[in-house]
Amino acid sequence: MSVVQNKSELSKWYLPGILTGLGITFRHLVKNLFNKKQMLTLNYPEEKYEYSPRFKGNHVLTVKKDGSLRCTACMLCATNCPAECINIVASEHTDPKVEKYPVKYEIDILRCVFCGFCEEACPVDAVRMGPEWQTPAPNGSKFVYDINHLAYRPQLKGGIQSIVDDDERHKSGI
Ligand code: SF4
Ligand code: SF4
Repeated sequence: MSVVQNKSELSKWYLPGILTGLGITFRHLVKNLFNKKQMLTLNYPEEKYEYSPRFKGNHVLTVKKDGSLRCTACMLCATNCPAECINIVASEHTDPKVEKYPVKYEIDILRCVFCGFCEEACPVDAVRMGPEWQTPAPNGSKFVYDINHLAYRPQLKGGIQSIVDDDERHKSGI
């Protein structure tokens, strides 16, 4: 009983708590200075955590062999998106072999919940979610990703080619 009383008496004073906290901070500071490999934190943005390739991060619109968009503007991704953050404007293509194509394809990434439904819904492997997760931007408009960003941003080095082959698709009647 007296120990409990002593504890509550002690807790009335801020100084012991502050000194204990500073002691813990100092202990970690010294430990991290002499053992950097064991540090749990990274020096972001110079150091970045590498997630698994299976991580579902920022979207990519895939391209065909000629570098054009794979997307046929079928709207399945936008229809399935629970956050209603995909905005597509479709147009007829001049090539009769190609179905429609998107003249506008935008994802409002601040509304996206990264559920992956768009990727699952797409019948032609035109939208994928990759291991990129950093989404910093200087203002709100930069968070609406357009075709240029989704398919041709510099990190993609000219675009990610789809594994789906057009000829095989046509042969199988898709
Ligand atoms: S990941 Fe989900 S919320 Fe984000 S765009 Fe795709 S369907 Fe919409
Ligand atoms: S990304 Fe896929 S599902 Fe979405 S509109 Fe294009 S073809 Fe259809």
